[in-house]
Amino acid sequence: MAECAVVAPTGLEEALALLAEVGPEALPVAGGVWVTLTLRSGLVQPRLLLSLRRIAELGELAVERDGTLRIGALATHRAVERATLVRERWPVLAETLAEVANVRVREQATLVGNLCEADPASDPPAVLAALGATVELVSRRGRRIVPVADFVVGAYQTVREPDELATAVRVPALPVGAGAAYLKFRTRSHEDRPAIGVAAVIVLDPAQRIGHLDVVVGAAGDRPQRVPEALAAARGAWCDEALAATLAEAYAEAVETVADLRASAWYRRELVRVFVARAVCLAAERAARDAGGGQDG
Ligand SMILES: Cc1cc2nc3c(=O)[nH]c(=O)nc-3n(C[C@H](O)[C@H](O)[C@H](O)COP(=O)(O)OP(=O)(O)OC[C@H]3O[C@@H](n4cnc5c(N)ncnc54)[C@H](O)[C@@H]3O)c2cc1C
Repeated sequence: MAECAVVAPTGLEEALALLAEVGPEALPVAGGVWVTLTLRSGLVQPRLLLSLRRIAELGELAVERDGTLRIGALATHRAVERATLVRERWPVLAETLAEVANVRVREQATLVGNLCEADPASDPPAVLAALGATVELVSRRGRRIVPVADFVVGAYQTVREPDELATAVRVPALPVGAGAAYLKFRTRSHEDRPAIGVAAVIVLDPAQRIGHLDVVVGAAGDRPQRVPEALAAARGAWCDEALAATLAEAYAEAVETVADLRASAWYRRELVRVFVARAVCLAAERAARDAGGGQDG
């Protein structure tokens, strides 16, 4: 096995300089959950393990002036899930993270690490995409912001360049009266990754028609998916069970589904049909309940 150095810089500049110097053979390590498994199995053979754990500024979890939630690259699933400000203002995010793996994994694994890993069978990408979240990428060349929906481009593939670090994920404030839901379906143990997961975010206008709607399906194919034509057609409509069924049908027809140990491609398509309808109904119920009042789940 080739030699592998381990470094743990205390500043972002030093980490970025190392990434720029070593390139693709440097592997950033956040919680190390995925890195440990892939190192052990020989799937990755980096020349440098770049631990991020001592870079204090990456641990931030805060709300910015415009109401955006900034989740630093070292914030674990559990820290985000348990943060009062997340539970109060983005409850659907807290709900989703509580569905990831088990407490032991969530205490160690970071949310940004989950996104960077880009395993198709993951929970957070779908809900973050539906919430309009973005990933902040920083290198010595500068900083760029990429929507979560465009960050993952395939199985274990993101748009991150080898000299870039993902420093944070940023989640915009939910509009007043928004309702959101994430539904996960597992086919194996309770701690398993999703066979599919569906996130829906709805804002009703004063006439109780759909002002904003986003539905993102995760874990069905290689990356989170939405069906823009179906979403555009729903805008301005009453959100009832018939509309949810129409959307579900459109998603079941259009979404790419893969076969693996968790489900066949056919079964996943059936799951999409059922869970898109359920997620839309639940988000709409939450939006209607709190319309004009505040935010909900
Ligand atoms: C038993 C088990 C059950 C699981 N169940 C679920 C589940 O139900 N749902 C789910 O969604 N996930 C699940 N996971 C996956 C788990 O959530 C991820 O492996 C974890 O979030 C990765 O985060 P980490 O901080 O440990 O990343 P690491 O292992 O440190 O890194 C993961 C990858 O991202 C890169 N990386 C990390 N941080 C950065 C950064 N800041 N900038 C650039 N690159 C970076 C690393 O180089 C590596 O390629 C499960 C994992 C296990 C072991």
